[in-house]
Amino acid sequence: MSDPRKTELDPDSADGPLSPEEERYAEEEAKRRAAEHDMEMPIVTAMKETTPEPVQPVRYRASDKLCFDCHKGISCWNACCYDTDIMLTPYDLQRLAGHFECRPADVVRLFGSPSVHDRSNMPVVKLKMLDRPGDRRKPCVFLDEVDGCTVYENRPAACRYYPLGLAAVKIKEQDSIENFYFMVREPHCHGHDEPKEQTVAEFREAQGVEPYDQQNADWIYILMKLTSWKSVGGPWGKEADARTKKMFYMASTDIDAFRQFVFNSSFFERYLVEPAMREELATSDEALLKLACDWLRNVLFNEPTIAVKEHVLREAIAKARRDMGGG
Ligand code: SF4
Ligand code: SF4
Repeated sequence: MSDPRKTELDPDSADGPLSPEEERYAEEEAKRRAAEHDMEMPIVTAMKETTPEPVQPVRYRASDKLCFDCHKGISCWNACCYDTDIMLTPYDLQRLAGHFECRPADVVRLFGSPSVHDRSNMPVVKLKMLDRPGDRRKPCVFLDEVDGCTVYENRPAACRYYPLGLAAVKIKEQDSIENFYFMVREPHCHGHDEPKEQTVAEFREAQGVEPYDQQNADWIYILMKLTSWKSVGGPWGKEADARTKKMFYMASTDIDAFRQFVFNSSFFERYLVEPAMREELATSDEALLKLACDWLRNVLFNEPTIAVKEHVLREAIAKARRDMGGG
């Protein structure tokens, strides 16, 4: 069976959106959206994976208070930087690339490990832990055992958030998604015993998570939605196909390769992108990541996040009619 999303996945493909298969797909999509609308789905978006045990079953809002502090000299100094499972977001890679004056793909090659985000089954890159002979625990590739994090000012979002996790919930019978926070209380972390009281908002401000949240929002939305597919069921086998996963990984980890794809395929012949935006895409990684996410949302979820050119739609309709035996 051909995949009706192939048109959007491959700008060079001539397949159209109106074949019988695609109509069936549209029906399934409508059913799935209705199912999503009717249920409450908690979508945990923590980028640092933990076992469920240390996660406190309490929802924190921005104004809620927490007691926590982390500083050099604390008895558990660096304990959280060993054997840890941290997913690197596109903005993490951008910031680390800036830190090392290289490109995001170099950061992936030197400091990352290709992996899978368990909750969505999507390919992602995780922070490398060093596996040295004789070491009892695997330290993060950026850890200096005396001074701590060597990339502190550009450390990943998950390290900034810890010990908070970010979660989102899709409210029953509403289209909106609501964010909340939860606490991860691991026995090795003594920061919870420190007397420093602060609100979640103050903690977030001190950790500088805001630009990370802004830049990663669309990308995380995709992971969240794919995670929800695993529970409510997405079309075509409940998860993205291999080609979509490949494009997602490319856009997430190698923005230069995605730029090559956009500029060297018939992408601009198929999708409406204004000339001023094309110029921006040639140099701006942020603009390109936004385009990648808009395109993937269209491909994966059929959302109207990118405009297909009219002649492409007309060709697709004509082809679909021919395929169905019409004139
Ligand atoms: S990036 Fe820095 S804070 Fe994060 S785990 Fe590595 S050493 Fe620790
Ligand atoms: S207090 Fe927690 S976050 Fe800070 S160094 Fe210790 S284990 Fe890591």
